Amino acid sequence: MTKQTQLQVEAIKDGTVIDHIPAHVGVKVLKLFSMHKSNERVTIGLNLPSSALGAKDILKIENVFITKEQANKLALYAPYATVNQIEDYSVVKKLELELPSTVTGVFACPNSNCITHGEPVESHFNVITKKENIRLKCKYCEKVYSREVVTEL
Ligand SMILES: [Zn+2]
Repeated sequence: MTKQTQLQVEAIKDGTVIDHIPAHVGVKVLKLFSMHKSNERVTIGLNLPSSALGAKDILKIENVFITKEQANKLALYAPYATVNQIEDYSVVKKLELELPSTVTGVFACPNSNCITHGEPVESHFNVITKKENIRLKCKYCEKVYSREVVTEL
């Protein structure tokens, strides 16, 4: 990361910095963690220049430390995001993003005929990875969708 990039968003004392989120995905990540309803101070940088991604989003959330489970959900939106835990202005921990093998109750099934839309059952997807491609297979209708299709909804 260049010095210029670091200065694009103000530093925080304690909390979580999620960097290298693809542009336009940052707001979805906020909603995933319900941060848009939080009373903590959240700094959002959208469409910042990034040498690796072209443009990126960055989130800085004060006094909130995301769990391993949340980090794994994040991996579905932004597989190459970096998550740094900040204490007293220093990075004390970097969370590794790992794709979960299943996702329950987060995304709706894109198939409008799927039983999950009519019955009070939680959506459930198995995560399938083939090289760089991440796909989700619905447990109920057994249809397979690309990550982008499911997370767009
Ligand atoms: Zn389904």
